[in-house]
Amino acid sequence: MTSTSHVFIGAAGYAALAFHTPLPLSMAATTAAVVGSLAPDIDHPSSRVGQLLWPISYPLARLFGHRGLTHSALALLGLALAVVLLDGAVVTTVTAFAVGYTLHLAADACTTRGIALLYPSRQRFRAPITVRTGGLGEWALTGLILALAAASVVLHPAGPDLPWP
Ligand SMILES: [Zn+2]
Repeated sequence: MTSTSHVFIGAAGYAALAFHTPLPLSMAATTAAVVGSLAPDIDHPSSRVGQLLWPISYPLARLFGHRGLTHSALALLGLALAVVLLDGAVVTTVTAFAVGYTLHLAADACTTRGIALLYPSRQRFRAPITVRTGGLGEWALTGLILALAAASVVLHPAGPDLPWP
């Protein structure tokens, strides 16, 4: 998936999830989710986050390859441990980041390339229906996810009474 799709999916997915759960529906938390939705591609020097943080991106790409460690269950386990072990207000930020991160991996699993979820095993995991990164299918899938996220809020019995400032 492209960075643009990840941003849309991360923001809409987190906002919809926060609407239905005790997660905070704040601009700060949604921003953390968006950052998390871009973070896994730090292992790709040509990605937006990879270009921004190239001193980290190049060694990661060389050591683990794209869609390797950063796109694996090990990375998710590390984030889960951080959520459990951290304390205070930072837990909210890390949780929102982890939601965005997880949405990134789920979105990449919907592409033909899939993800190495059980890294260091190189076996690729894919959703039953996949799309090509950057293709029309990606935009259709991103649009569908945005529509589902919006519908889950608008059609909720409580209505779209969003607590945005
Ligand atoms: Zn990715």
